[in-house]
Amino acid sequence: SRTIIKEYRVIEQQERELDKDLASLRDMPAETEDGARIKLYVNTGLMTEVSNSMTVGAEGVGLYRTEVPFMLRDRFPTAEEQRKIYKQLLSAFSPLPVTMRTLDIGGDKQLSYFPIDDANPFLGWRGIRISLDQPEIFHSQVRAMMRASEGLNNLRIMLPMVSDISEVDEALSIIKKIHADILEEGVEVAMPEVGVMIEVPSAVYQAQALARRVDFLSVGSNDLTQYMLAVDRNNTRVSSLYNSMHPAVLHALQQVVDGAHKEGKTASVCGEMAGEPMSAILLFAMGYDALSMSATMLPRIKWLIRHSSISRARKLLSEVIELENPREIQERIEQTFEEMGVADLIRAGRE
Ligand code: PEP
Ligand code: MG
Repeated sequence: SRTIIKEYRVIEQQERELDKDLASLRDMPAETEDGARIKLYVNTGLMTEVSNSMTVGAEGVGLYRTEVPFMLRDRFPTAEEQRKIYKQLLSAFSPLPVTMRTLDIGGDKQLSYFPIDDANPFLGWRGIRISLDQPEIFHSQVRAMMRASEGLNNLRIMLPMVSDISEVDEALSIIKKIHADILEEGVEVAMPEVGVMIEVPSAVYQAQALARRVDFLSVGSNDLTQYMLAVDRNNTRVSSLYNSMHPAVLHALQQVVDGAHKEGKTASVCGEMAGEPMSAILLFAMGYDALSMSATMLPRIKWLIRHSSISRARKLLSEVIELENPREIQERIEQTFEEMGVADLIRAGRE
């Protein structure tokens, strides 16, 4: 309707003005007044997003959704086509790290030429489960990634939808074997860092055991929220229950970063909540090493961090972690943002 269009125009204008003010932060680190630092990465899927990521001063790619180029075709891309796509991205960001997630199809992500007919797709054949059952797809993808990294060595590989330790052990042995084969063929490429996505409750409880096996953990908070709360992330009928600020989700997030750090590994978040100011401040306080988000949100989160102190953020976290419902949590954060003078970030379109 006209009213909605008008309202969105106002929000658009407010956001544009905010972003204009933030452009000057491009080459500055996301560092607080008291010297605490967090890395800010971008999420991408399309090459067209790369130039945007460059202009906002991202420190690397925290999530490259490899299913996007697969979805844009009507057949599986060949190994050589994949190598070229991956090379383009790795070169564009070199020497910054690029985290490529192995094919995450199933659930809400379907390929027209590889139909999956599951009665319960979100609990069915998806992500790493498909990769391990169809090793030729996984094999050709990992091989293409490693060959693309030749001469650059900025590749990191990330495994989606892990729910069992054995999946990681199996995937790791395949990845190591591919690396050994490639070296034998005379291609000089470093073994990439490998990480696990924490997207289901079982992975939260086994975060430390997972971290022991790999180089990093990255929380997919969109799926983690869906699976922790048993709320379909795409179903509008239950969308009022879908909330990443639910106390149960916050407790889970703290457990994941603690598990990773006990093993001396890094932890990041690459779901939507990493790019939302109110949750980003909590993730920062929990000790996350990096946040990965859309290029649009990155300057705003950087500005927020630069206007915060780690002590203030930790105090806020210690208060909200005691609260029992998401509404109260949000109100407490809004109040703190007003006090900190950063409420502009969440005010757009609210007046
Ligand atoms: C997530 O689940 O939070 C995530 C980053 O992956 P996707 O949104 O692609 O499922
Ligand atoms: Mg996910």
